[in-house]
Amino acid sequence: MSQEPKQPPPPQALLILNPGASPLFTTAGQSVRCEHGKVVEIAQDLEPRAGERVIDARNCALVPGLHDHHLHLLAAAAASASIDCTGKTKQTLIASLKAAKTTAHIRAVNYHESIAGPLDRTTLDRWVAEKPLRLQHSTGQMWFLNSRAIADLGLESDEHASHKGIERDPYGHATGRLFRADSLLAASKARLAPDLTTLSAELAGFGVTGVTDTSYNNSDEEFELLASKQSSGELLQHVRMMGNESLHPQRQGNIHTGELKLLLDEAELPDLDELTDAVHRAHADNRGVAMHCVTRIELAVAFSIFAATGVKGDRIEHASVMSEGSLSQMRELGLTAVTQPGFVHAKGDRYLTELTHTEITELYRLRSLVDANIPLALSSDAPYGPVNPWLNMQSSVDRKSSTGKRLSFSEALSQEQALAAYCGMADAPATPRQVKVGAAADLAILNAPWQTVREDLASTCASTTIREGHLIHGKFD
Ligand SMILES: [Zn+2]
Repeated sequence: MSQEPKQPPPPQALLILNPGASPLFTTAGQSVRCEHGKVVEIAQDLEPRAGERVIDARNCALVPGLHDHHLHLLAAAAASASIDCTGKTKQTLIASLKAAKTTAHIRAVNYHESIAGPLDRTTLDRWVAEKPLRLQHSTGQMWFLNSRAIADLGLESDEHASHKGIERDPYGHATGRLFRADSLLAASKARLAPDLTTLSAELAGFGVTGVTDTSYNNSDEEFELLASKQSSGELLQHVRMMGNESLHPQRQGNIHTGELKLLLDEAELPDLDELTDAVHRAHADNRGVAMHCVTRIELAVAFSIFAATGVKGDRIEHASVMSEGSLSQMRELGLTAVTQPGFVHAKGDRYLTELTHTEITELYRLRSLVDANIPLALSSDAPYGPVNPWLNMQSSVDRKSSTGKRLSFSEALSQEQALAAYCGMADAPATPRQVKVGAAADLAILNAPWQTVREDLASTCASTTIREGHLIHGKFD
């Protein structure tokens, strides 16, 4: 399935009239001209030129396109595209499978025999024949596939003839049942990759023009996959991709590689010497490191590694729990924190019942990081946290759970700080971009003037989103 890389059409010349001020665009009342994917002129009373597309911002806030500094694109798309069988009857399950809009595989999870009995390809073909379909059993150990999915994955080819996980009838045909065959599905990653159209359009609707994919298992294969999804127009945002050591440094169109992602898991901490060596190797390759730290111990381990290796633009992902002492250590080491205030919204009620008062004061700190001069950026961690950047910003400002209970309000940011922390550069997340001449034309026009937006961040969206001069959301006047 090799595809010639398509040459993207050149960006259009654009003129934005009446852009409203924002913390990152301070010259309100002046029009903004974009050419060749860059902001080329900001001045009063610019007249549209022949062939130039015009957008009237009607004094709504103009901001740099947002950048989500930590999310997992494929997992987020798979999660939102999967049908959850929990609580469904046979009729409602069949109805939702038939209604699935995806052009890729239809994927359903949590199937149990109490819904419609044991499944096989014949049953599934009666439900959905025209698209590949696979359902995962609630134990996670079994998959049921229809004939299209079986053909798509080549399960009846010679290559898989002796695979023990593929159940076969006496004639050698696959029955549609796979047992413990995740490696088989993993080997078909590209074919099973979820469709990113909906997620990417949703992000564009929030004004997001760039993301950092922080999945620790990203390799060259995922890089190629996302690059092809960009060139087909399915994925609209710039991507910085972190990954494992097998991900080679590269750049292709709108995607480039970033940090080495290392996962620290308190329950199963990897060998410290090995981790230290991995950081040394990354630094020797001029590659930064991003370390996943959600507990106090994980953070302490990260600090001891970085104390030994030195810091070269490295990041701590989540920094979910920080003691007073860790704030000063982090500042001294010069690490950047990339955190997710959306968890306060999504999980705040649970934290309030499960954690002590001290633990809550140390949770998802924001203001104390700013006060300690620790570079800070915000992000969603979708699909594990809410993908909406404006909800994340709201949560960083009001520190409220979804039922309205406050968690350590002293950690709140101002609206302006929250926006800046969502507009950082891909390779310097705590350095906010500005709307200025010479900057990339990655821009969002919000649905209201900034003074209105800041009063209700959670309801904010973009009316127009532009990536490198290309309209990726909204329309021209
Ligand atoms: Zn994550």
